[in-house]
Amino acid sequence: MNGLAGEERAFLETIERGPILDRTLAWSEVNSGTGNIAGVTAMAGLLADAFAALPGEIALAEPAPVEKVDAEGRPRPVEAGRHLVLRVRPGAGRRVILTGHMDTVYPASHPFQHCDWLDADTLHGPGTADMKGGLSLLLAGLAAYEQAGPTLGYDVLINSDEETGSLSSAALIAELAQGKLAALTYEPALPGGIMARARPGSGNFAAVVTGRSAHAGRNPEDGRNALVAAADLAQRLHAARRDGLTVNPARIEGGAPNNTVPDLAVLHFNMRPRGPADLAAAQAVIDTAVADVAAAHQVAIHVHGGFSRPPKPIAAPTERLFALVSRAAADLGEPMTWQDTGGVCDGNNIAACGVPVIDTMGACGGAIHSPGEFLLAGSLAARARLTALVMYRLDRHGAPV
Ligand SMILES: [Zn+2]
Repeated sequence: MNGLAGEERAFLETIERGPILDRTLAWSEVNSGTGNIAGVTAMAGLLADAFAALPGEIALAEPAPVEKVDAEGRPRPVEAGRHLVLRVRPGAGRRVILTGHMDTVYPASHPFQHCDWLDADTLHGPGTADMKGGLSLLLAGLAAYEQAGPTLGYDVLINSDEETGSLSSAALIAELAQGKLAALTYEPALPGGIMARARPGSGNFAAVVTGRSAHAGRNPEDGRNALVAAADLAQRLHAARRDGLTVNPARIEGGAPNNTVPDLAVLHFNMRPRGPADLAAAQAVIDTAVADVAAAHQVAIHVHGGFSRPPKPIAAPTERLFALVSRAAADLGEPMTWQDTGGVCDGNNIAACGVPVIDTMGACGGAIHSPGEFLLAGSLAARARLTALVMYRLDRHGAPV
């Protein structure tokens, strides 16, 4: 840690691994799958209690209304938990946003519910890396920064629906990102401190195909087979994948008994465009395929959904923010590297607001979104120090311009 100034060492020394690990273990034992409203509500309560150690005002924001198309092709409201917002020094001229999520991908019914140690440093457990550990070290990092005579203001947003696309929190993210000089998001980094660089965009869609039913034997020619049309649409969309655009037809629902031409099918699919031009091309692919299939099969097609995660290419201000973070990591003796990833997160939405964002400020770990998820416990205090030092240097030296 030779690159540290004396006053930097002083507040960094207040960070201890014990409380960060204890919170991580306790929070990982609370199931907070996105759809487990009781679970995310319990997590929101625990987080509100813990983050009350910081100055500022904590509020729980109501989720925005969200709909999802069901198997009958009808939009249905989706329940979501409330989102935690902490505002510290809201009157400060220079402000930062720090974001995380309290939800995980594991529903209450999932067998993966508890933590165990794979070795002295490797904690295996649901949501350990993604991102209970990240939330815990975020708190420790901010608490240490508060010891350093802080002048920056900041908002902390911890949403309850990140793993399903942040549909009920997207407007809140955009509102809180406005006017911020930088954003830090607490998704996990890979072992060895590999940070995410550019991210593609992502959109989830449901195409509701409505045909006409008829008897399968007596007058099938009067029918318009919605299932076959949906399958054709899946094929055409899939054929459009290329470098810069992934397409995943994921599920077809609907159909009818064997003696009936089906009049309803719902095709669910995901598309990930790499850059803004790819996003425009992806939208054109959908429009063309839908029009062609509707005409060829004489069916009606209504597409629900959209590109809720815009692509996150890397612009110069983000390069400079990464340089600041990377320098801080090196000064702490934890050098990092930066590489592109296929995943998406709230960093996409923040970048779309024109705010430079580093979105893998959380713990180091891996196998996320699987029963093998693990966290490297040694990264907890190290990454808390990184947050404290980055905040301090943004405060003293300003955002890199
Ligand atoms: Zn995550």
